Amino acid sequence: CRGMAKSKFEYVREFETPDTCLPNCWVVVRVDGRNFHRFSEQHNFTKPNDIRALHLMNRCAQNVMEELKDICLSYGQSDEYSFVFHKKSNWYKRRASKFMTHVVSQFSSSYVFYWKEFFTDQPLLYPPGFDGRVVLYPTEQNLRDYLSWRQADCHINNLYNTVFWMLVQRGGLTPAKAQDRLRGTLAAEKNEILFSEFNINYNNEPLMYKKGSIILKKKVNEISKKMIKLEGEEEREVEVSRSRTQFPILHCDIIGDMFWDENPDILTS
Ligand code: ATP
Ligand code: ATP
Ligand code: MG
Ligand code: MG
Ligand code: MG
Ligand code: MG
Ligand code: MG
Repeated sequence: CRGMAKSKFEYVREFETPDTCLPNCWVVVRVDGRNFHRFSEQHNFTKPNDIRALHLMNRCAQNVMEELKDICLSYGQSDEYSFVFHKKSNWYKRRASKFMTHVVSQFSSSYVFYWKEFFTDQPLLYPPGFDGRVVLYPTEQNLRDYLSWRQADCHINNLYNTVFWMLVQRGGLTPAKAQDRLRGTLAAEKNEILFSEFNINYNNEPLMYKKGSIILKKKVNEISKKMIKLEGEEEREVEVSRSRTQFPILHCDIIGDMFWDENPDILTS
């Protein structure tokens, strides 16, 4: 019971090992859906991109950013999301297990909680799970390269998947035949198959599919009008301003410098 002398069992706490993240490093937590190849089939995801599933992932990431401290940016694609904790964060004394487990459990419970908002006609058949990992990046360049790596991965996979599913859904190929057809092809050749055989210009595919989703944390001053009535005065309208945090979702390039030049405060403040 609390407040009493330590019990003789207390010594077992010494078995816990410290897992403090190195100071002054960016802490990235990435979560990834467990066996979502199967999960997506069982829940009738549209292939290659189920837009409901992507919006649900974004909503879960927003909730993580709303609930947990010190996340300055997140990036998601497919069944994964990366969360960047500010390098100066001292949340839970920088314990890696706290960063990782809080992100994974908040994300997982959100996925179930928000499911029916996005999948109105598709029941959730079983509880999904997510894995998590923590990686430290000591420099801004390392962090940017990490995010570029995930966005490049999104692009490569999406181009492949877009052609693959066209060959299967409209070209009538079996998955095995479509895979054979694409083995060893370069990006230009995949673009060419899409264009010449299916009349699709890959450039015109939705940005969310090609670039993934970036969520920022933005402090905004919200101005609203309110009616007030002071004693002995007429009722009148006044403007009240209050600071609110918003979590806008973007689908832009984060590999080049432009995004970082336009949003200089993400990594500095
Ligand atoms: P693991 O448990 O190792 O992560 P996994 O089956 O989840 O296994 P991933 O490499 O994470 O493998 O791939 C996720 C898979 O989930 C994709 O290959 C795709 O089939 C499916 N998927 C994820 N998001 C979507 C989506 N929005 N629309 C359609 N399919 C999706
Ligand atoms: P932290 O995020 O640090 O874990 P916490 O508020 O969860 O903060 P804990 O030390 O984990 O703190 O204590 C959990 C608290 O939850 C208990 O003190 C109690 O108030 C409440 N609680 C948990 N389970 C029950 C229960 N079955 N019935 C009533 N209260 C409960
Ligand atoms: Mg407890
Ligand atoms: Mg995986
Ligand atoms: Mg997965
Ligand atoms: Mg994945
Ligand atoms: Mg607790």
